[in-house]
Amino acid sequence: MRERTNVIEPAKRINTPMLNLGEIRPIPAAHFGILRSRNLPTNRTGVCSTKRIECTMRPVRAQLISAFLLLPTVASLVANIMRLPVRNAVLHQAMGRRQRPPANHRRHASLGEGDDVPSTKANNVAVVGGGLAGLSVSYQLLEKSRGANMQLTIIDKNLPGEGGASTVAGGLLHPFSPRGKLIHMGMKGLEVSSRLIDIASKYEPECVLRDKLYRITQTDSHVEQLTTTADTYPDLATWLDQNQISKICGTEHSLGGLELSNGCKIIHVPTYLKGLWMACQEASTGNTVNWSVEENVKGDWKSRLSEFDTVVFAAGSGLFHDKILRNDAHEFPAEMVRGQSIEMHTNELEGTRNEAVLCGKYVAPMVAQDQILIGATHEYKTEALSEDEVWNELKNRSYELAPNLWDHGTVARITSGYRVQSKRGKYGRMPIIGRSSGDIHDNSWLFTGLSSRGLIYHGVFGDILSSAIIENDELSMLEEYPDLHWWKQKKE
Ligand SMILES: Cc1cc2nc3c(=O)[nH]c(=O)nc-3n(C[C@H](O)[C@H](O)[C@H](O)COP(=O)(O)OP(=O)(O)OC[C@H]3O[C@@H](n4cnc5c(N)ncnc54)[C@H](O)[C@@H]3O)c2cc1C
Repeated sequence: MRERTNVIEPAKRINTPMLNLGEIRPIPAAHFGILRSRNLPTNRTGVCSTKRIECTMRPVRAQLISAFLLLPTVASLVANIMRLPVRNAVLHQAMGRRQRPPANHRRHASLGEGDDVPSTKANNVAVVGGGLAGLSVSYQLLEKSRGANMQLTIIDKNLPGEGGASTVAGGLLHPFSPRGKLIHMGMKGLEVSSRLIDIASKYEPECVLRDKLYRITQTDSHVEQLTTTADTYPDLATWLDQNQISKICGTEHSLGGLELSNGCKIIHVPTYLKGLWMACQEASTGNTVNWSVEENVKGDWKSRLSEFDTVVFAAGSGLFHDKILRNDAHEFPAEMVRGQSIEMHTNELEGTRNEAVLCGKYVAPMVAQDQILIGATHEYKTEALSEDEVWNELKNRSYELAPNLWDHGTVARITSGYRVQSKRGKYGRMPIIGRSSGDIHDNSWLFTGLSSRGLIYHGVFGDILSSAIIENDELSMLEEYPDLHWWKQKKE
């Protein structure tokens, strides 16, 4: 049977000799924003029930604003109909779809007060899954359709920051491949993610754990590659010699490494997601936004989603494991790759540094000063590695990063989650975004396949997708970013 551990696997049964079991202590999570409405305007309410929690917010003056804003919307619609752009016939054919109405607006920036309101067919939107993908697209949908009277509902099994791969991620945000090459759309990714993190930080400042990280090396060939990275991207990457790395990271046996900064960060992802959800509520002026906790939709997604005019499927591995999509993961160019990590107590060991150090595996700080995260396994098999095997694999691959910690630290807990890992293509592992098949809903979109690039890619691809949804136009998106068609071609 398929193993489906989602988040926490307490390290109760580890009996490796060098392992000193610690008490299992959950990460002290930041406050959950909706129910306690901290930092939010007072005219917002939270309505909760036991099985299905809905937290709804609707500013009192929204009705008046909506009526007022309707005038420019109609004017804008007429003006845009007058200048229909020519569509790309080849692309239409490739997509095998009927011709869609032209884009009324190309918007990749947020609307300010007084801007005209986008004409959108997405009036009543469901986003299934509120991890990095779901919250990014939700925030950017709300931001771009301020005043458009959109109703957006995030349907998730869990509360914000409490489910999926996003909650067990290492939190490393940088735009480089393991060999120090800039990944496809890496700079844009860093820019948009940084913008979203800045916004979320207003509500949850603790979500940024460090504003730099260290990519060290232990081989000569990597020295060459990484010094080239430092020469090519001096704004982001600074080469440090062995002594400097040893002083900062406590890693004695490196050959040097890169300090990555100026936007590269370590994020506590659960806290970030809570902040981003609060930002969604702030960005919803003239719209309505709900977070609906629903554990038991099971196979009946079609009827559950029938009340919405637009649906975005963004539930990570849940799309496949919970059979939300009728297709199996193997029908997509993607696979489920389990990742297990160890949260360790440092026991205030002298000489233990608390910086994020990366070299294949990583050691990263956590919210609690005396805890460090060591991650993560890449497991392709159905059966999960045992706790001992996780310990051994991570120790073998990261001992040199933090010897003191491995020798004297104690395990707080082992976490586990699944990456939806897309197949490697011309541009590495690209996300899967675009229109979904109409099996469950005839106006549905897909945002998944973030692989291990969730932090660098969730912002920029959420930006692109939210514009396409508002315009109800996949073709314009594919004209501007033809590479996003990759997964449909592979599927065909
Ligand atoms: C161990 C590990 C470490 C990682 N480290 C990093 C890192 O350092 N940097 C980085 O950039 N990326 C990292 N990643 C990758 C990153 O976590 C993912 O790319 C990203 O979290 C994917 O986001 P998502 O929103 O697509 O899916 P998820 O984060 O899985 O979110 C899915 C959401 O859908 C909900 N859901 C699931 N099933 C259902 C259902 N049936 N009904 C309703 N809701 C449902 C879940 O509760 C969750 O909220 C790591 C991944 C793992 C596993």
